[in-house]
Amino acid sequence: MDTNEVKVGNVTIGGGHPIVVQTMCNTHTADIEASVRQCIRLHEAGAQMIRLTVPAMDDVRALAEIRKRLGNLGINVPLVADVHFSSEIAIAAAEVVEKVRINPGNFHKDFSKACEQFSRLTEVCKKHGTALRIGLNHGSLGDRITNLYGNTPLAMKEAAMEWLDLCVRNDFRNVVVSLKASNTIVMVEAYRLLAQAMKEKGIAFPLHLGVTEAGNGDSGRIKSAVGISALLSEGIGDTIRVSLTEDPVNEIPVAAYLADRYGHKLHSSLTAMKLENKKAVATYTATSRERLMLDMSCDFGKMLLDKEIDELELKGSYLDQDGNEVLLDGSPDAEYFTDELMQAARRRFYKPEYVACPGCGRTMYNLEETFNEVKRRTSHLKGTVIAVMGCIVNGPGEMADADWGYVGEGNHKVSIYRKKTPVLRHIPEKEAIDRLLELIEKEEK
Ligand code: SF4
Repeated sequence: MDTNEVKVGNVTIGGGHPIVVQTMCNTHTADIEASVRQCIRLHEAGAQMIRLTVPAMDDVRALAEIRKRLGNLGINVPLVADVHFSSEIAIAAAEVVEKVRINPGNFHKDFSKACEQFSRLTEVCKKHGTALRIGLNHGSLGDRITNLYGNTPLAMKEAAMEWLDLCVRNDFRNVVVSLKASNTIVMVEAYRLLAQAMKEKGIAFPLHLGVTEAGNGDSGRIKSAVGISALLSEGIGDTIRVSLTEDPVNEIPVAAYLADRYGHKLHSSLTAMKLENKKAVATYTATSRERLMLDMSCDFGKMLLDKEIDELELKGSYLDQDGNEVLLDGSPDAEYFTDELMQAARRRFYKPEYVACPGCGRTMYNLEETFNEVKRRTSHLKGTVIAVMGCIVNGPGEMADADWGYVGEGNHKVSIYRKKTPVLRHIPEKEAIDRLLELIEKEEK
């Protein structure tokens, strides 16, 4: 898909430029030292753009200082301010960094007031050469749109088109759009609808792709690769972020693989493939376990999502970290990888489905450790969707279709949600997983 060029500092998104790899800090932005240190690590790992959360005006000042210190070190990687709800903070941030990410629908409950605030922001962006990302995640669309279209990919597309129409009317073109979801089917459909709608309107804003709240480990990598690759393979997507509930440095090699693969710089290790009765039998000679996971996700994720195939069998081998060949034919490994891919494409659920945000400066507890503990203790709950979210501000909205939610409140307290409803509040962190399990077990009896 041909898109406009969007300038973000020294990086260009869209217009046929290579796919841009970006990530987000999970430090508290106000902790300038820690944030600068993490930005340096992310830059050295290959991040071409780094986002930081900006919950308050103090964080805008911290962001300006982070920008300055990185510049003094000769690091001019563009910084992106992640702003929720406040147009005033977004406007202030637009004066100090290269890009601001917002969901303008959340600026104000009254749509016309939200439009006014968004227009003021676009004027400031024009003046300072700042780019915007309109980021509309599944689950955080707001009542006005979901009352009209439900909480659907169509609603995500319609919401995006409203804001893009306003950008066009304001003659503001330095805009990228994202429609992320943790459900790969919803995510892929939303972006496809938006790409089609923009084409029909004769507009072409670049798209930022991501599977949000993808979790961690193998599942997070496979889910992200399935959703992002399905779109990149169709020529949809100009910049990507792989969100993992881990050290954000770990996101970069996965995103770089996807950027390289769809930038035609590397090829799959698939050596043979047979297709019969909607079952694919694929043979790999992969140089590592991670490479096998990413290759198979890109080779077969879209086919599974689009129901072109129903089953996959893996053959061949990969090299383990000591360089030993591990054979796949009929092995538990092959079964595990296939199960993971089937679940990522939402074709078959062999374990609980986990939704976990990557964490950011709003997270006030050890998210990764807690998420791993929740996974360990709920692994028997096949088919249940369990969310572990870093903050009470965005967590409940963003966990979309989860059956149960563990949401950090700050001050070592946690809220437990049953779908969208908080059923326990202010639970001490130490007890929270026990209480969550008690509730689940009670309901299952
Ligand atoms: S839900 Fe997670 S990633 Fe999103 S703002 Fe809250 S802590 Fe940050």
